[in-house]
Amino acid sequence: KEVFDGLVMKSTGSWYEVRSSSGDHIRCTVRGKLRLKGVKSTNPIAVGDRVSYALEDEIGVITAVHDRKNYIIRKSSNLSRESHILAANLDQAFLVVTPEFPKTPLEFIDRFLVTSEAYRIPTSIILNKIDLFDGELKELADYYRSIYEHAGYEVIETSAKKNIGIDYIKEKIKNKITVFSGNSGVGKSTLINCIDSNVKLKTGSISLYHLKGKHTTTFYEMVEVAFGGFIIDTPGIKGFGLVDINQNDLSHYFPDIFKFANGCKFDNCTHVHEPGCSVIKAAEKGYIGETRYNSYLSILADSEEKYRNPF
Ligand code: GDP
Ligand code: ZN
Repeated sequence: KEVFDGLVMKSTGSWYEVRSSSGDHIRCTVRGKLRLKGVKSTNPIAVGDRVSYALEDEIGVITAVHDRKNYIIRKSSNLSRESHILAANLDQAFLVVTPEFPKTPLEFIDRFLVTSEAYRIPTSIILNKIDLFDGELKELADYYRSIYEHAGYEVIETSAKKNIGIDYIKEKIKNKITVFSGNSGVGKSTLINCIDSNVKLKTGSISLYHLKGKHTTTFYEMVEVAFGGFIIDTPGIKGFGLVDINQNDLSHYFPDIFKFANGCKFDNCTHVHEPGCSVIKAAEKGYIGETRYNSYLSILADSEEKYRNPF
């Protein structure tokens, strides 16, 4: 039987919407057991997965899931070791923020970046509503921008209202899978609407009844934009899943901090109080942004038990 390659656009847990190479959407099921490498998950297939499928009458049957380049997960429950895969094969993340109206806290941004570094998803920060930040407020936007540019991230200023930066965003989205995240009110929906007014994003929360009890599981949906490319929105605050990061690894996910760590006297230096710590020295000299280092300390303190991110 002939087998085709496709891209999973939507997952409900029981059936999947798969985009064929010619752009048709095919309803697919899974029959039997799929052999999967890597993560132990409650769902075998997620949005963004590249799959092989065969056609039986009008219905597709997924026969294989291709290797993932990355994925974002959420722990199914505190007790379970199993994870739920939210999305796979993400090319980039856009974190939409506003320094005011509403204020996105810097530590929120830093926690998000730790997560996207851990997942190996290149992330850009979108400073939206830039039309509101001229005059006296310009300094505030510049402050945000300088923190993250200094940390090595691209910061893109946009105004969904005044159509600033939108063409550049479109260029970056083209032919990629992009996940949009950010607190509610920052203008995600307005921005996405500017990018392609036909895009209607939604996520469904579906309750799954397990033998162990009730779980509410989120299934993301991916939308194709007219000029080519795919967008995944992560509405609300619960964007990315949980990641466990042990204390010694946390600095790996702060590239601007980690680049100083090879000068530390101790291999297992946590860069908090140790003698001969080159990170502390760099922070004192201002080579590491103060707010970034403070977020590092704050997240490190949380991870004393077990790191958990709030998204
Ligand atoms: P979401 O919750 O992130 O999806 O935010 P929305 O897209 O619903 O936008 C929240 C509010 O901010 C709405 O009243 C928008 O009109 C407004 N908004 C969005 N983008 C901009 C912008 O670039 N400039 C200004 N001034 N307002 C914006
Ligand atoms: Zn150190």
